[in-house]
Amino acid sequence: MQIGREINRGKTKTIYETDLKDKLVIEFRDDATAFNALKHQRLARKGMVNNYFNAFIMEKLAAKGILNHFESRLNDTQSLVKRLDMIKLECVVRNIAAGSLCKRLGIELGYNFETPLFEFFYKDDALGDPLVTVEHALAFGWANAQELATMRELTFAVNTVLKSLFADAGILLVDYKLEFGRFHGELFLGDEFTPDGCRIWDAKTRQIFDKDRFRQDLGDVIENYEIAAKRLGITYPAAAQTT
Ligand code: UDP
Repeated sequence: MQIGREINRGKTKTIYETDLKDKLVIEFRDDATAFNALKHQRLARKGMVNNYFNAFIMEKLAAKGILNHFESRLNDTQSLVKRLDMIKLECVVRNIAAGSLCKRLGIELGYNFETPLFEFFYKDDALGDPLVTVEHALAFGWANAQELATMRELTFAVNTVLKSLFADAGILLVDYKLEFGRFHGELFLGDEFTPDGCRIWDAKTRQIFDKDRFRQDLGDVIENYEIAAKRLGITYPAAAQTT
């Protein structure tokens, strides 16, 4: 397989074409960004840790029948994925209140939802990814009703799989964001699942293992991604691992 030209350079990942029909390469870089990229830093090993983390989670989801774009890990920072026609919506499920929800609705941090809460956000940096409803998505043609229902269903299905996977590792899955795309008439989970796009806390102490460490300047960002990775049984080259 030949890696071709760069087709997109996002905030933390670069996407390349390949000579394979319908396949792309995603490269996880060491860049960390927050607050719509107002805050930016390079963190050593981040690309590698996220590449291994994402591969592990996507494989677990596939094993449970949740279709996703992940094909194989190519090396420490790159993976081969299906080329999806991405839908410009972010799907968020929250088990515990944190982040924008607390600010928006004045809910206390750590409030436990009896039933997980689902939200759509419109993926548009210039607008700051606003919260939207199904009606907005239909009115603007971002996706059809069937697709929106499937995205919601799949996002909850991911919650069932990952909540228990993380619980077994002593980790609370607080919330997460997923993105979906179309592939030959079917919806597939795309983008990534890494500590950049979820909130994960130690089940006992509530120590933060995710990007909030970067957002809130808590320090040891990647070291904490690695604590979660290690607990989940994610392994990568020892030379690159912290002790
Ligand atoms: N999230 C993300 N990308 C975004 C917005 C949110 O990955 O552009 C993730 C975020 O890390 C958290 C969840 O989605 O796990 C819910 O985020 P929230 O709406 O609380 O917004 P934030 O606090 O990130 O502004």
